[in-house]
Amino acid sequence: MTEKVINQKTYDIAIIGAGPAGSTFARLISEAKPNLSIALIDDRQPDWQKPCGGLLSSDAQKRLAEQKLTLPKSVMADPQIFAVRTIDLEQNLDCSYQRGYFNMDRNAFDEWLISLIPNQVSILRQRCKNIQDGEDGFILQLDSKDEIKSHYLIGADGAASMVRRTFFPNKKSNNYIAIQQQFKRKDLNRAEYYCVFDQVTSDSFSWFFNKNEYIVYGGAFPKQNSRACFEEQKNKFAEKMNYDLSDILKTEACQVVFPRKKKEIFFGSDNIFLIGEAAGLISASSFEGISYAIESGKKLATAFQNVNFEDPIKTENHLEFNAHHKVKNHPEQSLIKTYEKLMRKTKFKLKLKMYKRDILCSPFLRKIIMRSKVHALKFR
Ligand SMILES: Cc1cc2nc3c(=O)[nH]c(=O)nc-3n(C[C@H](O)[C@H](O)[C@H](O)COP(=O)(O)OP(=O)(O)OC[C@H]3O[C@@H](n4cnc5c(N)ncnc54)[C@H](O)[C@@H]3O)c2cc1C
Repeated sequence: MTEKVINQKTYDIAIIGAGPAGSTFARLISEAKPNLSIALIDDRQPDWQKPCGGLLSSDAQKRLAEQKLTLPKSVMADPQIFAVRTIDLEQNLDCSYQRGYFNMDRNAFDEWLISLIPNQVSILRQRCKNIQDGEDGFILQLDSKDEIKSHYLIGADGAASMVRRTFFPNKKSNNYIAIQQQFKRKDLNRAEYYCVFDQVTSDSFSWFFNKNEYIVYGGAFPKQNSRACFEEQKNKFAEKMNYDLSDILKTEACQVVFPRKKKEIFFGSDNIFLIGEAAGLISASSFEGISYAIESGKKLATAFQNVNFEDPIKTENHLEFNAHHKVKNHPEQSLIKTYEKLMRKTKFKLKLKMYKRDILCSPFLRKIIMRSKVHALKFR
């Protein structure tokens, strides 16, 4: 039996996902093209937290600076740590490196980015259950049984992207399971940030840091036996670094893209565009993804600025679309090419991160690097 549709509304652009990628795109495109009708759909609830380290890298800080954005105090977390202690549990290696991360509350950061979006964008806090490619536009079914029709579809829906899975099933990304646990921070004088390698439990890496009144241990694991591997590794870490991680406050898990090949980075085709982690844009060597999400949102908005949104894309009454949807050689066909071109350097940079990951995640090469102490901090 088909579900009864309650309301149907038509937009020029529907964006699924209001993470840093979707909210940056929504803000910049609506500022540049105030007459466009845009829907931004996200199923996050106010009490929901995306599993994330919430560390804003210097690249991400640069992306914000380029957009003349300054972080409000409400986004800040405590403490700010400028060194990451890298340890290898198997090989007994320990080295500290300087890092310029900004420690923040990830949920507050996302909500702050959403708050900057002009009012003309309809923000729908709902889950998109299903998307179809209809004759005259995309049809998005929402949790509320409302339907949305749109001419352009933007997949900003993160690592487990429904847009990518639905329309590009052959463009698979290499996904791991990220697991994070929160514990009460008992010793407020002990503030450390660790990057943890342990070849026995994961060929990726893990992290440990302080966030306000909590400490967090998290890592990325192959899908099979991920939880058991996480527990084993966490216990090894706790014993070695003398932390009591028995008092668990919260456990969270989600998929994270762990890119291995350049071809896993994919930007979409026709009227469907992927940005942020949905496009596979995340560093394989650090899981740093916020800067790439912001950057791709901005670059896609730049590509869209050259599109003429007058007829024939939509008719005067805004409600009907004509048969130009997906017509080859339509001027908008160049849109995806422009977006890909704008992202070329970033794609290359992410390829280099994949090489860096190959080096760092190889126990033998890691040993050489860490023993060499190149770039390591010297403590007196
Ligand atoms: C455990 C972990 C720790 C990380 N730590 C860091 C870090 O410290 N620093 C850093 O830079 N990066 C970090 N990352 C990576 C970073 O979180 C992501 O790369 C970044 O959030 C990607 O942004 P995005 O906008 O593409 O997607 P997301 O931030 O994932 O946003 C996608 C949004 O889409 C919504 N959505 C998805 N599907 C639907 C649907 N069907 N209907 C409605 N809404 C939907 C989700 O609710 C979500 O709000 C971490 C990742 C993980 C998993």
